[in-house]
Amino acid sequence: MKIGFIGLGNMGAPMAANLVAAGHDVTGHDTAGVTVEGVTPAGSAAEAAGGAEVVITMLPNGDILRTVAGEIVPAMAPGAVFLDCSTVDVESARAVAEQAQAAGLSALDAPVSGGVGGAEGGTLTFMVGGDEAGFMKAEPLFDVMGRKAVHCGPSGNGQAAKICNNMILGATMIVTCEAFALADKLGLDRQAMFDVVSTSSGSSWSMNTYCPAPGVGPSSPADNDYTPGFAADLMLKDLRLAMQAAEAADADTPLGAAAMRLYAEFVEQEDGAGRDFSAMLPRFEGRGRG
Ligand code: NAD
Repeated sequence: MKIGFIGLGNMGAPMAANLVAAGHDVTGHDTAGVTVEGVTPAGSAAEAAGGAEVVITMLPNGDILRTVAGEIVPAMAPGAVFLDCSTVDVESARAVAEQAQAAGLSALDAPVSGGVGGAEGGTLTFMVGGDEAGFMKAEPLFDVMGRKAVHCGPSGNGQAAKICNNMILGATMIVTCEAFALADKLGLDRQAMFDVVSTSSGSSWSMNTYCPAPGVGPSSPADNDYTPGFAADLMLKDLRLAMQAAEAADADTPLGAAAMRLYAEFVEQEDGAGRDFSAMLPRFEGRGRG
């Protein structure tokens, strides 16, 4: 397929490289001038998008996505697919989709989970909103870049699924870290705590797969001095998007709001920036109730 790829950062570059390796003809653009082996460089987003059957964007936020959409939609051929894989606010996703559909394009919002490791290994999960025809056309590309793609409904629903998932993840990681710090103070051994909780009703992905306690459970960023993995900064971004959506939809999300406040403190006022989001455990270890 002839593909335009805009945003060749930590995620976009390996995703584009996997498409090239699978035999696709990829033209890419990034304002930072990044180049990827096998990807034909384009001088602008519009140039990368012109003549492509599918244009993929992997950008930092909704404002940038809206700007890029303004540049590429007029350059895209009718019937082409605008496939945005960035994590952005639901409103921007829906606005960009409307703009694309008005120009006769298919539009998909398809944020991912799996991080840089998933992008490199081609094992991402895509949560997809948008029309069925576009989803069918993009499916072979999801198969190259990822392991699973779930069609979640109309435009914006991919972003909705992503932020709901990550709101659960943020809150469960915090409470798992709180519980380890409490267990320490009660004299309960961390291994015993893991053995009980991971097989009991308190189990979760945060405990069982990504245990925040070093030396306990499967290997995780905790065993690598909390080098991300999934950075606390990115968790904060996703929690802010979740709270923005909750505000717009008038949804009551008290634990999501508390998780957002804690990650904001951790990243912006403490030492959380650039650390894995599970480094909440050493944060709680050093604290009392006051
Ligand atoms: P990144 O900052 O490494 O990459 C973004 C790239 O976009 C940069 O190279 C930047 O130069 C480029 N860019 C910015 N404005 C542009 C423009 N107008 N035109 C063309 N290129 C432009 O970020 P990333 O880690 O690759 O993340 C990309 C998206 O994926 C984000 O929305 C992020 O939330 C999401 N995401 C990231 C991860 C992760 O672990 N890194 C995991 C899941 C989802």
